[in-house]
Amino acid sequence: MATDYVSEWMTDELQALRDVARQFFEREAAPQMAKWSEQRYVDREFWVKAGRVGLLCPTVPEEYGGPGGNILHQVAITEEQSRVLEKGWGNNVHSGVVTDYILKYGSQEQCARWLPSMVEGTVIGAIAMTEPGAGSDVRAMAGRARRDGDEYVIDATKTFITNGQTADLIIVAVKLENPQNPAADPRAGAGFPALMNQMPQERLILAVNAVVQTEKAVQLTLAYTKERKVFGKPLYDQQNTRFVLAECATLARAARLFVDHCIVAHARGRLDNKTAAMAKWWLTDVQCKVLDECVQLFGGYGYMEEYPIARMYADARVQKIYGGANEIMKEIIARAL
Ligand SMILES: Cc1cc2nc3c(=O)[nH]c(=O)nc-3n(C[C@H](O)[C@H](O)[C@H](O)COP(=O)(O)OP(=O)(O)OC[C@H]3O[C@@H](n4cnc5c(N)ncnc54)[C@H](O)[C@@H]3O)c2cc1C
Repeated sequence: MATDYVSEWMTDELQALRDVARQFFEREAAPQMAKWSEQRYVDREFWVKAGRVGLLCPTVPEEYGGPGGNILHQVAITEEQSRVLEKGWGNNVHSGVVTDYILKYGSQEQCARWLPSMVEGTVIGAIAMTEPGAGSDVRAMAGRARRDGDEYVIDATKTFITNGQTADLIIVAVKLENPQNPAADPRAGAGFPALMNQMPQERLILAVNAVVQTEKAVQLTLAYTKERKVFGKPLYDQQNTRFVLAECATLARAARLFVDHCIVAHARGRLDNKTAAMAKWWLTDVQCKVLDECVQLFGGYGYMEEYPIARMYADARVQKIYGGANEIMKEIIARAL
């Protein structure tokens, strides 16, 4: 479901990767989505298949079994995943978030131990920050780690963790209990800044997902309203329909231009927290607004789960909540003004 717009950062190589991803998702994922939704997890075999065709952890260097790509490869895969799949496959967390933490903050030994299996899909990654009593207020987390010889013993309760049911490797955010000598352990005191440093990438991926869903909603609704007849003519011929879709298409284009700006900035290492927060809140907000308009144009069918637009509408709502609620995004922006 492509639009007529081609992002300036797109290259032949990235386009080829997108084609591979789209064909793979259409062939291997689309027929399984109802089953995955019912059982509430994605089969492990699918992760391994995705690994075999090179769709996991594209930023992992060759020395750790990866293809040595960059964020643009990750975005290309995220876009196709978002276009074809529905909710449930936590690859964006696995490949786009957890991988980056290990690459940036893991030791060489940890990289060698975990990354090859993550690229293969035999190890599934998750990140656990949220607790029942601490979501938006990350600093309020009660989870603790206690040093015991060469190990840390973790005592924490986490909730809402994507891939939580199937994960083999979980990055757990906790506070260090009684750090004796923080200077002697570079991991003590370094955790919170690491969480904050990684936020722009996580938020960018959510924003990319929002833009793809917005574009897809407009395309689906255009096709539907051109086919659906009301009062003896296509619904699209009603002036209100045309104006609503003109507005939605304009929002989708503005959203695309903004996210492209952020993608390029991030590829150059220049996406700051403020801009990533702007992208996250505004693009997920646009996604929800456009989907609301589109559902209205589908009439009663827009409420029926059998129609993709109904499922897209329901799934869109969480985009304004996770990855940092949109109110928190506005706090981050306001503080930086
Ligand atoms: C499907 C899903 C997947 C998720 N995946 C993960 C994951 O993989 N790992 C992980 O760690 N977490 C994950 N989360 C958790 C998610 O990041 C949190 O739900 C989110 O940060 C909000 O925290 P909360 O739910 O505790 O809401 P609360 O912190 O209780 O906030 C509730 C609402 O209060 C408002 N609010 C809060 N603080 C402020 C403020 N300062 N100013 C104004 N308004 C405010 C906002 O509207 C907010 O939405 C996931 C959540 C969902 C639903």
